[in-house]
Amino acid sequence: MINYDRILIRYGEISTKGRNRNMFVDKLRRSIYDVLNEFPGIKIESTRDRMYVVLNGADGGEVADRLKGIFGIQSFSPAVKVNKDIEEMKAAALALFLKHFEEGKTFKITAKRADKSFPLNTDELNHEFGGHLLKNVPDLKVNVKKPDINLQIEVREEAAYLSCETIEGAGGLPAGSSGKAMLMLSGGIDSPVAGYLSMKRGLEIEAVHFHSPPFTSERAKQKVIDLTEKLANIAGNVVLHIVPFTEIQQLIHQQVPSNYTMTATRRLMLRITDEIRDKNDGLAIITGESLGQVASQTLESMFAINDVTTTPILRPLITMDKSDIIDIAQTIDTHDISIRPFEDCCTVFVPSSPKTKPKRDKVRRFESFVDFEPLIAKAVNDTEKMVIKPQSHNEESFGELF
Ligand code: ATP
Ligand code: MG
Repeated sequence: MINYDRILIRYGEISTKGRNRNMFVDKLRRSIYDVLNEFPGIKIESTRDRMYVVLNGADGGEVADRLKGIFGIQSFSPAVKVNKDIEEMKAAALALFLKHFEEGKTFKITAKRADKSFPLNTDELNHEFGGHLLKNVPDLKVNVKKPDINLQIEVREEAAYLSCETIEGAGGLPAGSSGKAMLMLSGGIDSPVAGYLSMKRGLEIEAVHFHSPPFTSERAKQKVIDLTEKLANIAGNVVLHIVPFTEIQQLIHQQVPSNYTMTATRRLMLRITDEIRDKNDGLAIITGESLGQVASQTLESMFAINDVTTTPILRPLITMDKSDIIDIAQTIDTHDISIRPFEDCCTVFVPSSPKTKPKRDKVRRFESFVDFEPLIAKAVNDTEKMVIKPQSHNEESFGELF
């Protein structure tokens, strides 16, 4: 009986990052330790182009399940380390192969020799190990193009590693390797997806939500907390800022012509988010906007709203169709929370006919008659800051591999 004792992790994109490489690898190592913190025995060994999570008795299926969600991992393989002794390697290869083999399955060997002093070269390794399996497994067939089982053999300086399975990782860049940005998080479908895609590119996010009690309910707030929790499940704790927005929205409604209230509301949200960003050392703001989706998301609207800041605004969904956004929302498990029927502050105050082509100069002029500054300062000051933790994890799905 042979058991996998480690998981080989391939970085993909990170290994091309030049001088930043060490930082990326460090961040990835930290993410893995964070996500696997409930397995105190595990150890990470890293080399130039890969890492090994050494299980030390931890349940490989559960560990694999956690690894699947970590950004910066291209793919991974349960693996076993063996001494560089050809007979020992052959015995291990056969034992491992038999764990995966069922009648009728085809195979190939993919050997790599990083240690050039090893007596067999790549072709000879393929040959020697392929022959050994064919001799010992009746009716076994080779299929080089599309094998059912690809037994990988890597001979490195310190040992040889065998694996039979490659599992696709989450891709992207390690958590926090790209800096921090504020995610404007409504209760809708889009902004959690924008948050997820930003996290995938290595951004640390803090969420900002505008809340207008009593026009918006506690349940609307809970919805945003639940959405943030889903994001926390992806890359660890997420800070959530809840901004009390009622007074500002009421003032806008009293002072701004109704077809411009939506534009003014967005501008004020953006100004406040920018102040919170500044206080928390973020360098960008993320929104769930998608071009042309609703009145506030025409190019004219974005031009008029974006006017209040020079901070980069990242819009990961800008070119995406709604159906593609919904697909992602379903994969990250936020969709069903987003469609709960509690209104957010924009839905409550939305005018019946918002301008689809607002003019920047007009909205500037309407706002100039009102002194929003004290209310902005008060809203920033009264913002509630919460730290949302990940929930416990789903059941494992890779148990049978180990
Ligand atoms: P979503 O599905 O994310 O709510 P949407 O399609 O409803 O987006 P809008 O209502 O125009 O579009 O909102 C555009 C973006 O503005 C949102 O994606 C979000 O980033 C931000 N936003 C809207 N409402 C709020 C809010 N109450 N708090 C924080 N951000 C908000
Ligand atoms: Mg919305």
